[in-house]
Amino acid sequence: MAEAVTQDLELWTYSSMSTRMNCPRKGHYRYDLRLAPWIEHKARPIGSAFHKGIETGDVAEALALFDRVMPRPNDQTQADQWANDRAVVEGMTTGALETWTRHAGGQREVQFRVPLVNPDTGRPSRSFMLAGKIDGIVDVGGQWVLEEYKSTGQMNKVYVDRLELDTQVTMYAYAAQRQWGIEIAAVLYRVARKPSIKQTQKETAAQYRERLIADYASRRDFYFFEFDLRRSQESLAEFERDLWVQTQRYLADRRAGFHPRNTSMCTQYGGCDYMPLCLGRPGAEDLFVIRAPHSELTEEEETVE
Ligand code: SF4
Repeated sequence: MAEAVTQDLELWTYSSMSTRMNCPRKGHYRYDLRLAPWIEHKARPIGSAFHKGIETGDVAEALALFDRVMPRPNDQTQADQWANDRAVVEGMTTGALETWTRHAGGQREVQFRVPLVNPDTGRPSRSFMLAGKIDGIVDVGGQWVLEEYKSTGQMNKVYVDRLELDTQVTMYAYAAQRQWGIEIAAVLYRVARKPSIKQTQKETAAQYRERLIADYASRRDFYFFEFDLRRSQESLAEFERDLWVQTQRYLADRRAGFHPRNTSMCTQYGGCDYMPLCLGRPGAEDLFVIRAPHSELTEEEETVE
């Protein structure tokens, strides 16, 4: 594959794009003003650790990351929950590594940077660079395949149907084609289900860990899924136009000095962190700190779901 193209342009990532689309005001707070909640939700430590285990092929690496992101709490009740979450990482990663074939060659956790282009003129944007990190890109029998790893609490037809429209993976397929001049033949989804069993009152955390690991090992068909999805060249061309339109809308807001609110998103996903600012609560600004955006490109975080 050819070397990456890099330029000093504002980064347009899946996270920034989806935040700005969901609520332009929220995108303005986070990506223009760089405001982050003082008490930030922890990165999803189970998913992040699972990804690390898959990337390295090593359960110990997954657990080491979990321990770094989530040190063991002193409070006993919280420590029990922590031990259960750690057991999920161990059971899920062990089962995944034993279930899924690791394709030789290719690259994992690979970053891309490609200029956005105007689909009508083919000219690169003077403002934005598309950026992100791909779980894996491998050569399977002479064809390039993207690997995408997910962990989920729900695995059903609706979940799979939604993946066909998953913008994040569409972005990755588009970016990989642009950056390396290749054609992506398919996206290989590998999905691990979160556990269906819980610690009982009679069990210690250690006993639950043992039972959980055994459950992941004995019910592989229940916990692990693997399937291909495709992105047509037409859908990637449509995505290129989507991207351009979204950035032009954002630039128009920026020129106008006004970023509209989408109040239908205020209570989604447990409530918007920026509500105190939108409500004009006294002292609301003290709830935020200045923090660089796009941490998903530099930190050990899971970026999906
Ligand atoms: S509180 Fe509502 S309007 Fe304000 S930034 Fe959040 S989602 Fe947007």
